[in-house]
Amino acid sequence: MTPLFDLSGRVALVTGGNGGIGLGFARGLARCGAAVMVAGRSAAKNAAAVAELAALGARAEAVTVDVTDTASIRAMVEATVERMGRLDILVNNAGTNIRRRPEEVSPEDWHTVLNTNLTSAMFAAQAAYPHLRAHGVGRIINNGSMLSLFGMPLHAAYASSKGAVVQLTRALATAWAKEGITVNCVLPGWIDTDLTRKARADMPGLEQKVVERAPAGRWGSPADFEGIAAFLASDAAAYVTGTAIPVDGGYSISG
Ligand code: NDP
Repeated sequence: MTPLFDLSGRVALVTGGNGGIGLGFARGLARCGAAVMVAGRSAAKNAAAVAELAALGARAEAVTVDVTDTASIRAMVEATVERMGRLDILVNNAGTNIRRRPEEVSPEDWHTVLNTNLTSAMFAAQAAYPHLRAHGVGRIINNGSMLSLFGMPLHAAYASSKGAVVQLTRALATAWAKEGITVNCVLPGWIDTDLTRKARADMPGLEQKVVERAPAGRWGSPADFEGIAAFLASDAAAYVTGTAIPVDGGYSISG
């Protein structure tokens, strides 16, 4: 019997797949049989992630990319197709945050966050599109946030980028559904990664506040993203498109 979430023969490209949530997505795809191209800035982190995925028995390779540079994004997609033979699953996960009150946000801060979190997803999707449609089973998984839903005082740029990622998801889903490409967005709650380790240091009380508000009673971990990646990338999710799915231990439905 074929497993429901079998991804054998499929190729996935995961931006920011060299650590944190991105490596969780990559592990989920690899565990279902996909070959994975890890894309990040740090060659050392890329190599460690490739070793981890290979240890699971997956084919894994890495490409260095700066997702704030659209030429670098195009080169990342072309390198994936050249080296892995095709591209079926694009995970737009790379992201960053600069926490400042709105009155202190510089144009550079704004553009760094918007380019990394939003513009990169648009142009990676555009570069991947001809390859995703080629076999009629294309998948795009974008990474949003609880700040796609809420506001917070230090997050004008980040919340703007992550709110727009949900709308980008919906727009692309409507454009490409008839070509067999689904486009969905994952909304992580508070997850223990490098990004939030700094937030916990900067925001006293955050650690406990998350534990108290999330009905699951804990922070999330990158392993919590393996299942959603496997599902959204699979043929079983062929009729699921344009969604924004919280993976948050219930944080967003709790007062
Ligand atoms: P990490 O800091 O562990 O991961 C960020 C990833 O993005 C790294 O792999 C990093 O690679 C990559 N990256 C950042 N900037 C660039 C760039 N310019 N070009 C290429 N790659 C880049 O944090 P998380 O795993 O937490 O974050 C992953 C995603 O999840 C982000 O989109 C974030 O906004 C989102 N998210 C995280 C939440 C959390 O609680 N942790 C909550 C909600 C959303 P490298 O180091 O090599 O540059």
